[in-house]
Amino acid sequence: MCEYCEYEGCGRKEHKGGEGYCIFHCDKRDFAEKEIKKFEKEFWGYFEERNLTEWSQESSPPGELDFRGFRFPTDFSFEGIEFKKAVDFRRAVFIGGACFKSAIFSSKVHFLGAGFEGRTTFENAEFKGKAEFAGTKFIEGSVSFKEANFEEANFTLSKFFNCTANCTETKFKGKANFGLAQFNGDVLFFKAEFNSKANFEGAKFIDCKADFRSARFCDSAKFVGDCFPSSASFYHSVFEQPKKVEFESMDLSNVSFLHCHGIENFRFVDENWNIKYGRNAVYDEIKLDKSKDKNYRLVEEVYRKLRLNYERNLRFSEAGDFYIGEMEMRRKNARVKNKIEYALIIFYNLASHYGESYLRPLYWMFGITFLFALGYAEFNSLNPFNFELGDIFRFLGYFGISMSVFFQMPPEYLPYTFAITLERLLGALFVALFVLALRRKFKKGGE
Ligand SMILES: [Zn+2]
Repeated sequence: MCEYCEYEGCGRKEHKGGEGYCIFHCDKRDFAEKEIKKFEKEFWGYFEERNLTEWSQESSPPGELDFRGFRFPTDFSFEGIEFKKAVDFRRAVFIGGACFKSAIFSSKVHFLGAGFEGRTTFENAEFKGKAEFAGTKFIEGSVSFKEANFEEANFTLSKFFNCTANCTETKFKGKANFGLAQFNGDVLFFKAEFNSKANFEGAKFIDCKADFRSARFCDSAKFVGDCFPSSASFYHSVFEQPKKVEFESMDLSNVSFLHCHGIENFRFVDENWNIKYGRNAVYDEIKLDKSKDKNYRLVEEVYRKLRLNYERNLRFSEAGDFYIGEMEMRRKNARVKNKIEYALIIFYNLASHYGESYLRPLYWMFGITFLFALGYAEFNSLNPFNFELGDIFRFLGYFGISMSVFFQMPPEYLPYTFAITLERLLGALFVALFVLALRRKFKKGGE
């Protein structure tokens, strides 16, 4: 008695030893050479017939090339094949690798819920219709979309378990949706091009590097949720419409924005950076501390762009942090290249934390006037280390004199011209620093 395949809607004859399934739907793990030959013969026969038949509009079946649930033998190859019709690979299984190198998909292709295990390649493949990889699983191995062209790609909820993904120079002409995709294995988007919207909302790159170096985003880009718990690099990547780029609810402490074009106009919402000495610091600075290659200029550029971004968005506290970062990078760069600039920057930091603190100049003012008062008092044979009550009042008198010198007022007679000149100079300097820092604070609030 002839049995039929149990796969829903299949109706082909059961394969001998296929445990209730036809040759297309049965498990291939125990296949002998002969059976693989048989599979190939039958498959390509079916493929040719379907691929070449011109269906009239009315009689056209929904999935013209219907490979739903097919289980392909190891290393099955579609290299250079042109799929002239819409292809349906929904829930298909590719065990031990598959090759779609330079394949052409003339119409829509469905890999919804399909599974790939081992080494899979779509290198140079051309997807002329929508490519549905929603919920597709790539397991243990690698998948390459190197130099592939997508008209529109949907990778929503796709999973890459222990599988590296190579999208080097991949072109996404229409929307590229990686929403809720999970990557676990390094991912390369090196020089990838997103000509339309790129969506990474809820995507996660777990225990792996997300490499967007030199990638180009021509339209909006959305990175929402904790996408990059391990590390990500946007080195030299270009965002042509940065105002449409969002990084939301995200930990950016592992993300490099070195030389990234457009970062000054990104929208950052609910994001976290590294904390270094109590200020927000970018990953590139933290990395610089540990690396031998010290390119402070590039990190300074990241800070400058971020500062501009945050100032524009009225987030002055973080903008101040990034300004400090910017100055720190300048200081470190000057340490190697320009000693005078280095000394000035150090002074600027100590005196007013690069103009970010109006309290520091105040402390300095107090310290300086106090020290000069001590000096004036000692020269008038008052022993500062053996005070009596009367001496305290006398010292307060000198302190008052020191204050008036400091604030450029005429002192009572003092013979020490040099000390007075010096204190006056310091007075002018620190009053200026104080006023500048104060102005900076209020100007920020008023803008
Ligand atoms: Zn079947």
